[in-house]
Amino acid sequence: MAQVIDGKMISAQIKDEVRDKVAELKSKGIEVTLAVIQVGDDPASSVYVGNKKKACAYTGIRSLAYELPQETKEKELLDLIDELNEREDVHGILVQLPLPEQINEDKVINAIAASKDVDGFHPMNVGALCIGKKGFVSCTPAGVIQLLKRSNIEISGKECVVVGRSNIVGKPMSLLLLRENGTVTVAHSRTKDLKEVTKRADILIVAVGKPKMINAEYVKDGAVVIDVGIHRDAQNKLCGDVDFESVYPKCAAITPVPGGVGPMTIAMLMNNCVEAVEMRQ
Ligand code: NDP
Repeated sequence: MAQVIDGKMISAQIKDEVRDKVAELKSKGIEVTLAVIQVGDDPASSVYVGNKKKACAYTGIRSLAYELPQETKEKELLDLIDELNEREDVHGILVQLPLPEQINEDKVINAIAASKDVDGFHPMNVGALCIGKKGFVSCTPAGVIQLLKRSNIEISGKECVVVGRSNIVGKPMSLLLLRENGTVTVAHSRTKDLKEVTKRADILIVAVGKPKMINAEYVKDGAVVIDVGIHRDAQNKLCGDVDFESVYPKCAAITPVPGGVGPMTIAMLMNNCVEAVEMRQ
């Protein structure tokens, strides 16, 4: 029987560890603080921002909420980021994406001080990851590494295949697996014979953004399968990029959706807020 990797349980462990560190910093007079900026009222973004606030409340991190109207001008947002960059009492800054079309996302990501970029999207942090230096790592792929490590799944020397090469998931995921001494292949929409590539994987990470696309035909017997995808199916039920029912009987371990990678992202964000304080010290 395949092991079902319990992301809810592992993310709860991480949040508890963060809560202890936050309390310890508080006893030394440091109040870990995250500024969360949302522009407009996109319902999905509001849910994500709400969950981040809840996680801050749980871990004891002070959250400063900035809710700006949809028609906010780019300059106004950049000015707010400048102000937060300067504030000694703010350790992390997060701008919820996507942004309205009048605002250039790249400019916004570049404007956040790299030392406060707890999302790990700033080119300085991406570059640091690339050359093996310390910096913030994008939360979802960092969460996947924690899921593997805390489930005692060895990465070193394994054939790792990542399906997807986005800047926030696929690319940092592949760099993190490389850092852990995996032998890494990155597949994408131009990959020829995807099944042949994914069937080589001891560890298969799927971030393709297509509901239930990866079925048993893509998976080697005994592989570990990590599903990053989140979608709603025709019955409005949450599902991933992996067809769980088809893959489960074939693999050694698998993450479910919901309850796998999803809860890890926010836990790693909380962890990055504490790291922001530690890096400053
Ligand atoms: P993107 O759409 O940015 O990237 C998808 C990647 O998949 C691209 O690199 C694309 O290739 C590749 N791809 C698309 N179709 C195929 C195909 N038929 N065969 C092979 N490769 C293909 O998605 P994200 O990386 O942002 O997200 C991936 C999934 O993870 C989504 O379901 C998203 O909802 C979910 N997600 C979950 C998070 C969480 O917290 N659990 C956080 C972030 C995302 P190409 O580059 O060539 O176009």
